[in-house]
Amino acid sequence: MSLDAPAKASTSSTTPSGTGSVPSSPSSPSPRHIRLTSHSGGFGALPMVWGLPNPTERGPVIGTTTTRAHRNVIGTHSGSYSVYRALAVAAKALDPQHKADLTNTSPTDTIGPYPQWLEPGKIVSLDPWGADVASVFANELAAGYDIRPTIAVTKAHVILPEVIDALQKGRLKADGKFLTANGAAVVTKAAIEPVWWLPGVAKRFGTTEAELRRVLFEETGGMYPELVTRTDLEVFLPPIGGQTIYIFGNPRDLANPEVELTARVHDECNGSDVFGSDICTCRPYLTHAIEECIQGAQRGGVGLVAYSRKEGRALGEVTKFLVYNARKRQVGGDTADQYFARTECVAGVQDMRFQELMPDVLHWLGIRKIHRLVSMSNMKYDAITGSGIEIGTRVNIPDELIPADARVEMDAKVAAGYFTPGVVPDADELRKAKGRGLET
Ligand SMILES: [Zn+2]
Repeated sequence: MSLDAPAKASTSSTTPSGTGSVPSSPSSPSPRHIRLTSHSGGFGALPMVWGLPNPTERGPVIGTTTTRAHRNVIGTHSGSYSVYRALAVAAKALDPQHKADLTNTSPTDTIGPYPQWLEPGKIVSLDPWGADVASVFANELAAGYDIRPTIAVTKAHVILPEVIDALQKGRLKADGKFLTANGAAVVTKAAIEPVWWLPGVAKRFGTTEAELRRVLFEETGGMYPELVTRTDLEVFLPPIGGQTIYIFGNPRDLANPEVELTARVHDECNGSDVFGSDICTCRPYLTHAIEECIQGAQRGGVGLVAYSRKEGRALGEVTKFLVYNARKRQVGGDTADQYFARTECVAGVQDMRFQELMPDVLHWLGIRKIHRLVSMSNMKYDAITGSGIEIGTRVNIPDELIPADARVEMDAKVAAGYFTPGVVPDADELRKAKGRGLET
């Protein structure tokens, strides 16, 4: 696909003259001027007042580029994929005026509304009404506004070798409802795009809205001038990854504190989650959490995995791999006492995930109590409890699931404050080289 599209475009577009004019085709005329975003498009944009309880009064999030005058946010839909959308338009594979046909796309399960949706500042990084735009904004859609869902809810079967192994070893039992005989876990899942209410995001990070807008503008190379020119627009659709949630059991039960909730909030680690790299515990912890979620649902509870696209502590994979090399080549070998220092040398910080926005998705689901949190992270624990959600038991990764090469990371994290029911390694222990070299 990615190779076909430009080739197709090159045969259908006129040859550039070299004088700076933009090639055009009769079917989708290209603009000959740049559309500046510094000034209001004028006319017809629906107001949006974040946090108002009635969705009609709150107003829809309109990030469309089809009718620019209707836009009431900064940025556009699909998070980081908005750039691919631009490429598709550039390649003339996508009509920029295309409007989504939302027939039969409605959520398989209704989420909310919950009291947290109405609490000022409780949810600032996603649109609680994002899954329901076709119903709650039906009138506005009928009036011609291009309103797009920022959340989609569907059903799936997920089949993981670790779950099949647990089934074969008897740790899990098939019930035909939550887990099938062939090892498929039956889930409800939702994909969620980021929708940032800038005043609320600024408050979470202890800064001013003006400062946040300025830094977002400058650090994206001036990508969104409206951040600084349109202070009347308070909502930003950032070009970053969103999150996916997997629910084991009845989604409605998530909001009932009487129903046992097993939950993991997991940050993306492609190397381990997908490819099974043994330098960290991400995949084994994730699959252990899924096993716990299935067991929880089978006990009459409900399970949740919230998966955030924050690859490599939100530093990205290039930085992550550079750090791996720095760790393994340093004098003395790969040791836990230098674990965070090596990341900081390369990235300037130890971690950029900043869990401040993470609890929003839990509040969207109406969660008030997590009975079993499958995580050892003190940062996640503090963010969740700090947002008003009670946590019962914390479930650590079983020792036998920690790959040998991941011992460095585990020791470093436990020494830095991660929850453990076991022994916190002392300074001597942290100085021992436990990681593999690069050539072995
Ligand atoms: Zn990992």
